[in-house]
Amino acid sequence: KIHVSHLQKNFGKLEVLKDITTDIYEGEVVVILGPSGCGKSTFLRCINRLEDITAGDMVVDGNHMDDKKININKARENVGMVFQHFNLFNNLNVIDNLTLAPIQVKKMKKDEAKQLAMKMLGKVGLEDKAQAYPSMLSGGQKQRVAIARALCMNPDIMLFDEPTSALDPEMVGEVLNVMRELAEEGMTMVIVTHEIGFAREVANRVLFIYDGKILEEGTPQEVIYDPQTERAKDFFNKVL
Ligand code: ATP
Ligand code: MG
Repeated sequence: KIHVSHLQKNFGKLEVLKDITTDIYEGEVVVILGPSGCGKSTFLRCINRLEDITAGDMVVDGNHMDDKKININKARENVGMVFQHFNLFNNLNVIDNLTLAPIQVKKMKKDEAKQLAMKMLGKVGLEDKAQAYPSMLSGGQKQRVAIARALCMNPDIMLFDEPTSALDPEMVGEVLNVMRELAEEGMTMVIVTHEIGFAREVANRVLFIYDGKILEEGTPQEVIYDPQTERAKDFFNKVL
């Protein structure tokens, strides 16, 4: 599904991703861990080409994402992304947030888009908030709306960049539960999170990135509880 080969990403002289090679398979849940600034967000953004890659290959659902000839908007439709700060349209109510892209990008009929949106709101437990504006929602609710919005595009892959980092502690669980259900349904997911407990329970595989490379890769048990490198040992000693 996602094939990454010798991926490099520079910002000017700054070499952020130096050599990343991995394959992420259909239905897999991969959690990315690593110290602040190691390039986790940059890696996610390279997957749907929110960042141009400097060298190497990023192939998503068979699309070479750096190929200037592909229809990048089409390719991106398969990849949903959820950010730390929700990025909802504050001037639109929940249902309009959800139907905007299906109507404008996928040319879906209004009624059909609304039906789909209600279904996805049901999935995240927020059918009763369809008419609410984002400012009327809690952080956890906003993030669940953001997830429902991404799902309305029927993506094959979902990317999450610290989806619970901006939430009050009591709201983290409701968002993680939605993500856990998605994982159980077989969604392919790439998740940057500091929720180690979630990684341990839900991830099929954990990547520990350090200095622009994948330093450790394996099951949560292997990487989190039995890391082989001093760098990773150090990191997990601090976060566990
Ligand atoms: P955090 O855990 O703090 O979110 P991260 O692992 O997600 O960190 P990135 O946001 O990917 O790290 O950033 C990696 C490096 O790239 C950092 O040194 C950052 O300053 C730099 N960087 C990120 N985006 C840009 C940009 N648009 N222009 C220049 N430098 C950037
Ligand atoms: Mg980041």
